[in-house]
Amino acid sequence: MESLADRLRIGHGYDLHRLEPRPPAGPGRPLVVGGVSLDFDRGPIAHSDGDALLHAVTDALLSAAGLPDIGQLFPDNDPRHESRDSRDFLKEAAARIRAQGWTISNIDATVILEKPKLSPHKDAMRSVIAAALGIENGRIGIKGKTHEKVDAVGESRAIEVHAVALLVKA
Ligand code: MG
Repeated sequence: MESLADRLRIGHGYDLHRLEPRPPAGPGRPLVVGGVSLDFDRGPIAHSDGDALLHAVTDALLSAAGLPDIGQLFPDNDPRHESRDSRDFLKEAAARIRAQGWTISNIDATVILEKPKLSPHKDAMRSVIAAALGIENGRIGIKGKTHEKVDAVGESRAIEVHAVALLVKA
């Protein structure tokens, strides 16, 4: 039997997107976090839908399995990924890690966003991620933090996400 060390993998993912005013004031896309649309007058600059939470989780999963990262699998100069729903990236990552025999034990993410408040939407975000990955909501943790009004994130000029994922092989 394989040792415990052979049956566990941890992965870390990070993402940041610049936030700009929404049209007509600027080029910001609608603000989507964890597959949930948030009402805000600023949104991400991105090739895909700019969902920083799903990007960080996707990278955590891919990295845990030693697979190429999200930028390698889904290049931001590929027209197929223009305005792409980032749930597609998450589903593809899940399929690739499963193909290697891994099961997702849990995911934990911290979203750093000054405004709007994340708390009313966290359960919906957990449901989106759980559904895309085919796992229970209870295996997903999401925390929202502000950046105390300082620096780019604190001034609503960026959204930042850290995520970890634990993979298990039976
Ligand atoms: Mg991204």
